[in-house]
Amino acid sequence: MSNQYDFHCHSTASDGALAPQALLQRAHAQGVTCLALTDHDTVNGLALAQQEAEQLNMRFIAGIELSVTWERHCLHIVGLNINADNGVLQQGIAGLQSIRVERAQKIAHKLAQKRIPDVYEAVTAAAGEGMITRSHFADYLLKQHYVSTQQEAFDRYLGQGKSAYVSTTWASLQDAVSWINQAGGVAVLAHPLRYKFSANWFNRLLTAFTQFGGQGIEVVTGRCSADEIKQLSQYALRYDLWGSVGSDFHTPVNQWVELGRLQALPEKIKPVWELF
Ligand code: AMP
Ligand code: MN
Ligand code: MN
Ligand code: MN
Repeated sequence: MSNQYDFHCHSTASDGALAPQALLQRAHAQGVTCLALTDHDTVNGLALAQQEAEQLNMRFIAGIELSVTWERHCLHIVGLNINADNGVLQQGIAGLQSIRVERAQKIAHKLAQKRIPDVYEAVTAAAGEGMITRSHFADYLLKQHYVSTQQEAFDRYLGQGKSAYVSTTWASLQDAVSWINQAGGVAVLAHPLRYKFSANWFNRLLTAFTQFGGQGIEVVTGRCSADEIKQLSQYALRYDLWGSVGSDFHTPVNQWVELGRLQALPEKIKPVWELF
């Protein structure tokens, strides 16, 4: 079960464990011939990734994963084949980056109230020049033995409704899709089944998404079942969306998710790479 295409993964520019060059090398070793890097709310890893792809004779698609708040739910919209220098996109992500910093300070404050001090300094150092994400908090809590797994960090502190959770208003769905489109990219709904929407809500979401100019959906994700692919294919056909495939790879430590370890896109689905 391996795929030549992988259009969703992370580097050290956000919460991935591998630097862009190492990520491309790993994708190459896994048999991927065309990779999109899609870091959370940043394009900072793209230039190095592109250079490495050229060295390896791979195709590279410049991407991003934008954080969105829609109807009080957090959604992720992947942008593929974007022009990272586009001013509208850059301004949009600059706003998301300030939201990330403010949120990180608030999370650290809540943890301090739980007698877990100095976390902001630690996660800032760990993120380096990359985006600060909740994964950085989880890693720190794990390293300092406040929890024994990353999952426990989300279950006890960082997950929605938990003691260090900070409710955040990200970009609107309309803005995120529009930034991607203005940067010449294709907006793709990421990991659609992770939101646990009912059919009714899911139809509402796809109606809004397509009205705003969204054109794609991840039909194949890491660790998805044949049933899930079937379900998502039906939505792709109903809303006339291009199908994407993406592992959402973050780290080699997670042995369940690997670059390019993806089922094939069903034949009746228009592959998003036909656009590139
Ligand atoms: P953020 O965008 O900063 O809220 O961070 C979200 C990131 O944290 C996601 O992209 C995942 O990598 C990770 N994450 C979110 N929820 C969980 C969870 N329950 N367990 C492990 N990792 C998670
Ligand atoms: Mn992530
Ligand atoms: Mn995501
Ligand atoms: Mn992701």
